[in-house]
Amino acid sequence: MLAAVIDKPNEIRVGPVPDPAPGPGEVVVRVGACGICGSDVTIAAGNFPPTPFPIVPGHEFAGEIVAVGAGVDHLRDGDRVAVDPTLVCGHCDWCRAGRGNLCDNWGATGDTVDGAAAEYVAVPAYNCHRMPAGMTFRQAALVEPLSCAVHAVAVAPPRVGESVLVVGGGTMGLLTAQLLARGGASRLAVVDRKADRLPVAEQLGATLTSTDLAEALDDRPRGYDLVVDATGSPPAIQAGLAAVAKGGRFLVVGVAPPEATVAISPFRIYNQEITVLGSMAVLHSYGQALRLVADGLVDVDPLITHGLPLEEYPDALEMVRTGQGLKIQLLPNG
Ligand SMILES: [Zn+2]
Ligand SMILES: [Zn+2]
Repeated sequence: MLAAVIDKPNEIRVGPVPDPAPGPGEVVVRVGACGICGSDVTIAAGNFPPTPFPIVPGHEFAGEIVAVGAGVDHLRDGDRVAVDPTLVCGHCDWCRAGRGNLCDNWGATGDTVDGAAAEYVAVPAYNCHRMPAGMTFRQAALVEPLSCAVHAVAVAPPRVGESVLVVGGGTMGLLTAQLLARGGASRLAVVDRKADRLPVAEQLGATLTSTDLAEALDDRPRGYDLVVDATGSPPAIQAGLAAVAKGGRFLVVGVAPPEATVAISPFRIYNQEITVLGSMAVLHSYGQALRLVADGLVDVDPLITHGLPLEEYPDALEMVRTGQGLKIQLLPNG
């Protein structure tokens, strides 16, 4: 089959690899759509420590089951599934405490084992969620980033009537913003340097959009009750921290480089009772995200801007790196 392969950091090719076969407890999925994520850029640059090389990336995907391994009796060929990429060990202290996203042996399809930037991918059957009738593979491939956003709002539960600033109007920012709008945000500002993302943010519920964070602060000089960073960019995180109101929360959702640091004032944390939170990937939130899309409570369609053939993976990754479009998907089987 054809797959995108990152041989080592910054060396990406699309070429033939052996077809996957389902091991015990696994199924093989013919990939219908696979989204490219900002974290794929991090992986391709060699900045995501758990990733071994070479690897086939791709952790946001859905498709049709074409082979079923030994011991799988609840799925069959032809089932249309959205796939949670999460792989946890089940036996470390974090797994035993129900916090598998912090697993000492954490992994994910496309992050630590071969993923779905390919015609076919082998995955554990237990990670497959049957898609409701009427949902497209392209919509279902947005369930994974939405499940990260669902976990994010579980970490920083919205409070009715509060003011919210989302820094970063990419896929994660706009999905999180939609959930916070539903959660009762009275003001919902979305800031992104890319002006073409702002009309989409408005369409999805933002009450103020700007390419300049200072403008959002002009509107709310005392700061925002909840500030979400969905950029992973240290300067944006620094600016976002300064925009938190007294008693407010700052939530880091974006993936910054591991060695990056920002300055923080312990006096302010103490004196203004600022809470700093982090949200890592998916935790028991995939099924919930699937239902939100199925029931039309979160609109993913405006986020899907590109559908490209697998052969264009290197260009598609570059588009994500430079912030072109919103969700860029690969359609490996046409
Ligand atoms: Zn992702
Ligand atoms: Zn574990």
